[in-house]
Amino acid sequence: MACSPRLHKLQPRTWAWTLCLIIALTSPAFAQPLAGAAADDEVIRSLCRKVGRKLNSVSYSECLRAGLKPTGAVSVKGGPIVARDFLPPSGVTPRARVLLIGGIHGDEFSSVSVVFKWIAKLAKNRSNEFHFRIAPLVNPDGLLRKRSQRMNANGVDLNRNFPCPEWFRSTQDYWVRRTSRNPRRYPGPAPLSEPESRWLVNEIFSFDPQVIISVHAPFSVVDFDGPNQPPDRLGSLYLKLLGTYPGSLGRYAGTRLSTPVLTIEFKSAGIMPSAAEQRNIWRDLIHWLGKYTEEAQITAASAAVEEDEEAVEIGGGGG
Ligand SMILES: [Zn+2]
Repeated sequence: MACSPRLHKLQPRTWAWTLCLIIALTSPAFAQPLAGAAADDEVIRSLCRKVGRKLNSVSYSECLRAGLKPTGAVSVKGGPIVARDFLPPSGVTPRARVLLIGGIHGDEFSSVSVVFKWIAKLAKNRSNEFHFRIAPLVNPDGLLRKRSQRMNANGVDLNRNFPCPEWFRSTQDYWVRRTSRNPRRYPGPAPLSEPESRWLVNEIFSFDPQVIISVHAPFSVVDFDGPNQPPDRLGSLYLKLLGTYPGSLGRYAGTRLSTPVLTIEFKSAGIMPSAAEQRNIWRDLIHWLGKYTEEAQITAASAAVEEDEEAVEIGGGGG
């Protein structure tokens, strides 16, 4: 796997980047008219009513208190994709930009509920050092339908819909041969065919996160794709490198773009981790983010020094 040691690649270099930009930025999902504050409030209230009815662990009022805002992107059925930013206290430079997402698979309830708990924690925390962008339910149609499902409203597994150069060959092939056309793993008709995955790719370009954290269930592990060192464990969840699937976020962002993707898999999709476990995972996550950021900066700095030395050598030889 060709993973760059740099913290993040800034320049698009492949057709995949270009394709993503074109599709993501011209998508109708981002052409929504700007709504006023009152309209936004109604969007959030309506969403929170549905979330409160669906999730035992997140009430209507807790959802409202999360302070989420519509991003302007909407799902296949027009459900809002919502997010909230948290910054360090004013005057403090964030150590890194971190994109935290839950519920890309709509039937993994705990992956949405716990992200709401972490939002509440961050809202009280006055010493946060990172710029977090948090989207607790990336697949609102999958979660909020009568019988929640992994896929979005088009029956697409969003975590197989991300672009990689070999998408048409390997993603479809993998689905047909390895999953026997399992509908829960359907990657869609084309990369980025879905508005929810387009939103996420757009965020990867516009927010430019240095770390992406994607919350899932129920495999009870921590997984990691990308450069530098993953955490050994978060709470009671131990690191297990599972590898990536064609079209997955880990394959696209972690391997292709070298933007690290940390996947947290809770033990159960339907049962919340204990309050202590939620706290422990969060504590370990923040600790790792600090360490990771430092390590990535050192790696980037030493790569820059090496590049400079190489330039000097080339310059000297040419003289
Ligand atoms: Zn999942």
